[in-house]
Amino acid sequence: MIPRNHDYHIHTNYSPDADQEATFEAYINQAQALGLTKLTFTDHVDIDAVHPLFHTPIDYNAYLKEFNTVKQTSPIDIQLGVEIGYQSHVVEEINTFLSKYPFTHVILSIHYLEQKDLYTQEYFIGKTKRQAYQTYFETCLDAIESIDQFDVFGHLDYITRYSPYGDYDYEEYKDIIDRILQALIRKNKGLEINTSGIANEQRTYPKQEVLDRFIELGGTTLVYGSDAHKISELGRFFIQKKQV
Ligand SMILES: [Zn+2]
Ligand SMILES: [Zn+2]
Repeated sequence: MIPRNHDYHIHTNYSPDADQEATFEAYINQAQALGLTKLTFTDHVDIDAVHPLFHTPIDYNAYLKEFNTVKQTSPIDIQLGVEIGYQSHVVEEINTFLSKYPFTHVILSIHYLEQKDLYTQEYFIGKTKRQAYQTYFETCLDAIESIDQFDVFGHLDYITRYSPYGDYDYEEYKDIIDRILQALIRKNKGLEINTSGIANEQRTYPKQEVLDRFIELGGTTLVYGSDAHKISELGRFFIQKKQV
């Protein structure tokens, strides 16, 4: 059973790319309206980020103070999570950061490859589709093998989101994807069903075939995450509306 009343991937206005009105309280109010009973806040931490917006790190002392105050009076359960961005040259810094705070849910994600921002498409310049996607998946595997302090891998196969090459065929990348799924299972880690792709690409990250394969190989931990960056995106495409 995959819990549908819990959104495991939410950005507040502490994330520099989120809406200014996306406060803890506003999400909690929206959760109540939707019938979500649990929220895990997972703001961005991308150490040595390429994108200038992310150069100023979140002040976690202020963050924790506010989170704990809100939690005391919140009518629903809220959890402290984080979305940590993997880059191979900052593994030590990632481990140090994750050890410092009491996160109950860590999403390990990839937003940069070869110190290039996937969002700007710079990464794809001079690469064939095969080279670009294969390197992405290999880096996902490196991330999973290099980091132990995480709970789920975030938006696996999100490489297509800003790619000039579009969608991919699972069969073509089966070898590397299966190795990723097997590594997650071996390390007792989960996979998120990131619903942010449904509006643009009509699919979740990762796609259904990959989710099915994860289960087929023995994976058990799957969680839904909207990857909301504004209030209206909370629980998108998976929340079962409150019964009236
Ligand atoms: Zn992300
Ligand atoms: Zn996110």
